[in-house]
Amino acid sequence: MINVTRSSMPSFEEYCEEIRPLWESRWLTNMGVKHKELEGMLCDYLKTPHVALYTNGHLALENVIAAMNLPQGGEVITTPFTFVSTTHSIVRNGLVPVFCDVDPKTYTMDVEKMESLITHKTVAIVPVHVYGNLCDVEAIEAVAKKHNLKVIYDAAHAFGVRYKGVSAANFGDASMFSFHATKVYNTIEGGAVCFKDDTLVQLLNDLKNFGIRGREEVGYVGGNAKMSEFQAAMGICNLRHLDGEIAKRKAVVERYRQRFAGVEGIILCDEQDGVESNYAYFPVVFDGFKRDRNEIYELLQEYSIVARKYFYPLTNDIDCYRDLPTAGADKTPVAKHIADRVLTLPLYADLSLEDVDRICDIILN
Ligand SMILES: *Cc1c(COP(=O)(O)O)cnc(C)c1O
Repeated sequence: MINVTRSSMPSFEEYCEEIRPLWESRWLTNMGVKHKELEGMLCDYLKTPHVALYTNGHLALENVIAAMNLPQGGEVITTPFTFVSTTHSIVRNGLVPVFCDVDPKTYTMDVEKMESLITHKTVAIVPVHVYGNLCDVEAIEAVAKKHNLKVIYDAAHAFGVRYKGVSAANFGDASMFSFHATKVYNTIEGGAVCFKDDTLVQLLNDLKNFGIRGREEVGYVGGNAKMSEFQAAMGICNLRHLDGEIAKRKAVVERYRQRFAGVEGIILCDEQDGVESNYAYFPVVFDGFKRDRNEIYELLQEYSIVARKYFYPLTNDIDCYRDLPTAGADKTPVAKHIADRVLTLPLYADLSLEDVDRICDIILN
């Protein structure tokens, strides 16, 4: 069986060595030594001034949106071609998602359409770096400045991606990364918010710890979203090996690209100018191919190969949002076109090139 992904892990011995001190300190969570060490390592790796760690990416995104103090009922422009977490984070903060269509090449927010959706109620923009494809960060920044809007990136897919040498952590007011087991870089479950504004440091730290500011002071209505020492220890180990893991992913992606190059009806994402990829996903759009997406999905399954309809369905077309006045997949035709035809193929560091060839042979023949 070949699964769509497989978590990167350090050796058993390396992880045990990393958690050994916890048996002496008996300090298992609440911003301990490993937590501090990982925050420092991530500031260095991502070349960003502030990193706030979380127990998962979703709560990181919910918390950073809350930290922006946006007026309840305000409209937030986002895209439906994403994981439900993005849309949930907006709605769970009492804000209204307004779904913008995506660019047909990168599947990220179409900035021209985005500007046309801005009204007097718009308070923020939450774009997504889909598959690690970077949004048009410069255009988004220009529009956001003009209209005085906050920009919070869902960068769950973009850990390690750089644009003109600058890490994806440095765009907008803040960026959320997910360190879930299925992502390029994992802390088992985990996530982070990266940002530049010094005044957010205390607020984000408080929000993830019940709003507790001091021994006898509770400043905010916060939840609990702290990363534990065991998660942080996994992150410390995995970060040591990340560049090697990304290089191995690159070899897999290059093989897929070679095999599918020029095949009619198979559309791949172009490499983006100035972007260093993290090779997080390998999306293929079947558009005019001899079999459609669902047939290929079933066919692979017959060979115990798991591909993923990612992202399908669109978040403006799921039960909990379908009835919103702003929802409806017909309003985002490009996103719908892609969601109906896309499949992400198996991709992980240790996927052998022989297995890649086998997957390609099944699809092509
Ligand atoms: C994984 C993911 C999330 C949520 O992150 P978790 O760490 O799983 O909570 C949010 N947005 C996108 C686009 C994701 O892929």
